[in-house]
Amino acid sequence: MKDPRAWMRPHLRECMPYTTARDLYQEGLFLDANENPYGTLAPEYGDDLNRYPDPQVGDLRAALAAWLEVEPERLWIGNGGDEALELLHRAFVDPGESVVVCTPTYGMYAITARAHGAQVREAPLDGAFDLDVSRTLGEARGAKIIFLCTPNNPTGNVLDPERVERLAEGFDGLVVADEAYVEFSDGRSLIRAVPGHRNLVVLRTFSKVWGLAGARVGYFLADPEVVQILDRVNLPYPLSRASARAACLALARPDRMAEWRLKIVAERARLSRKLSELGFHVFPSQANFVLVRVPNARAAYRRLASEFGVVVRDRSDVPRLEDCLRISVGKPEDSDRVCQALEAMGAR
Ligand code: PMP
Repeated sequence: MKDPRAWMRPHLRECMPYTTARDLYQEGLFLDANENPYGTLAPEYGDDLNRYPDPQVGDLRAALAAWLEVEPERLWIGNGGDEALELLHRAFVDPGESVVVCTPTYGMYAITARAHGAQVREAPLDGAFDLDVSRTLGEARGAKIIFLCTPNNPTGNVLDPERVERLAEGFDGLVVADEAYVEFSDGRSLIRAVPGHRNLVVLRTFSKVWGLAGARVGYFLADPEVVQILDRVNLPYPLSRASARAACLALARPDRMAEWRLKIVAERARLSRKLSELGFHVFPSQANFVLVRVPNARAAYRRLASEFGVVVRDRSDVPRLEDCLRISVGKPEDSDRVCQALEAMGAR
């Protein structure tokens, strides 16, 4: 039986979570946390911003659990998916231990691992950029975490959820499936698979379809034990009042989110078609960006910004993605502008 405590960094067995009086008491005369009693100079963000936020992130936790139809104790909530990556390393990966990244993929997995003194092993995705289960399991022997991204950034495809589950079955360590872009896909989310796999962590964010990149709110769904282990290395009051409130307001408007999702998915198809018509190879995408092969991509990237004021992402130095640019799906007029610029440059 897999037990998340077996993967925890050994010294954390002696570390208890930081606790505050507010963990117990959310009401009363607050003389416990050395705050300013008079008020805040930024009341636009809430007239109680002089007070520390709820350490349990209770309102957002309840709203999110209801939205996802999951148990609240399975949720870790913090400052974006990137902070989750940081804390997962802090909790589970000792310096010198290994993590596995399935390349080409989101760069922060390897950056965070190296910052923690971990070894980064690469398990390349297959020819269709899907998961190669046996190769990844081979690479992952003795490793602590395997990082997957589905839909994958920057290739845009979803990984076969059956393969992800097989990987989780076969691996004695954590499998982190990053679903930052899942709302744009028509694939099956791995959220429902979490109760069946104690080592599966599904990472999500409010930065994409929910329109809250500036608030930095992310969460993951996992075994309650994994969430409790993270509490041992979490900072006090882990999410700002303003950010938690912003995410609650967003969750109260799923209609707006659904509308944006439809618009972005429709625009992704139009942008992909327009780029293909210009003669570029466009990788099929299930996310809110498209990967496109443009001759001399580095130069095209620079000219797009300097001559046309259009900023895209240059991925041309990523192995297997030579001459690739990643273009976010914006509004229809944004697609028109980037396509016109590429055409005017004679990039083809
Ligand atoms: N995962 C992936 C795959 C991403 O592309 C990003 C953002 N670029 C993140 C996580 C980080 O998301 P957040 O804004 O929630 O930190």
